[in-house]
Amino acid sequence: LKQGRYRGRFAPSPTGPLHLGSLISALASFLDARAHKGAWLVRIEDLDPPREQAGAVEAILDSLHAHGLQWDEGPLYQSSRQVAYQEALQQLKQQNTLFACGCSRADIASAASRHGPEGPIYPGTCRQGLNGDDGGRTLRLKVGDACISFIDRQQGLCQQSLADEVGDFVLRRADGLMAYQLAVVVDDAWQGITHVVRGHDLLLSTPRQIYLQQCLGLPTPHYLHHALIRGADGDKLSKQTGASALDNKQAMDNLRLAMAFLGLKESADGITPNLTQSLEWATDEWRRVTLQPC
Ligand code: GLU
Repeated sequence: LKQGRYRGRFAPSPTGPLHLGSLISALASFLDARAHKGAWLVRIEDLDPPREQAGAVEAILDSLHAHGLQWDEGPLYQSSRQVAYQEALQQLKQQNTLFACGCSRADIASAASRHGPEGPIYPGTCRQGLNGDDGGRTLRLKVGDACISFIDRQQGLCQQSLADEVGDFVLRRADGLMAYQLAVVVDDAWQGITHVVRGHDLLLSTPRQIYLQQCLGLPTPHYLHHALIRGADGDKLSKQTGASALDNKQAMDNLRLAMAFLGLKESADGITPNLTQSLEWATDEWRRVTLQPC
C-alpha cells in the first residue's frame, strides 16, 4: 500500500446482531472509504467475553455481506491482540504514567468532589501509591493537566480538559480485561487507520484516545462522528436496549433508510436495481454532501 493512503474501519462489538443504528455507522465509514478510494476494514472488538453473544460475530459479518458492505482486509479480532495491549501498558508503565488503583466504584463515588459527563471523576486516591500489592487491580492512566482539541469533520472544533471532565481513566480492568480506550488506540495505529468514522456517542471518548496516542507516540487519525438514530423513546438505538436485528432479506430497504438518515438523496428516479449500484450512487452522494466544500 502507498503510504498515506486512506484506511478506514468499522469496529463492532459482538454483543448482538447489527441493527439500523450500527448499519448507519457501517455505511458511513464504508462510503467515506470508497469516496476517498481507500481501504475499508472490519475489526471485531471482542474484548469483553461476558458481554458477548454467541453467534453475534457471524451474524454481523453475514449482515454486512448481505448489505454489500464488503471489507478489504481482515476481519481483525481484538481477542488475538492481547500481547500488543500488554506491550502498550508496559510502555506507559516505563513512562510512569500508569498506576494501579484499588478503588471500587463506591469508593470513587463517595470520595469524588466533581462529576463529568460519565459520572464521578476519579479523585486521584491511588495516584501516589496503592496500599498493599497491585496484583489484580485496575490500571489507570494519569491525565495530568492535558487539554485536548481536535477538529471533527462533522462536529467542528471539540475541546476537552481530561482532568476536569474525565479524570485518570482505566486501561485495564480489575478482572484483567483490557479497556476499549486502550485497545482501540493500539489497533487503529497498528492497522494504519487514517480516518475514523463512527457514531456521536463516541465523541466524548476521542480526547482520551488522542491523549493515549500522544503518550504512546502514535499518529492521530481524522475523526468524523455522525448523528445517532434514536428509538421512539428518544434513546440511542442499541443492542442493549433491544433494537431489532436487521432483516437481511430487506437489504435494499435497510440501506435506503440508512442513506436517508445520513442525508443522502436517492437516485433521481428512485430506482437503483441492485446493491452494487445503490452503493455506488450513495458513494457519489456522500462525496457531494460530506467532502465538497460548501
Ligand atoms: N466497538 C465500539 C462499538 O461497538 C465502536 C468502537 C469505535 O468505532 O471506535 O460501539
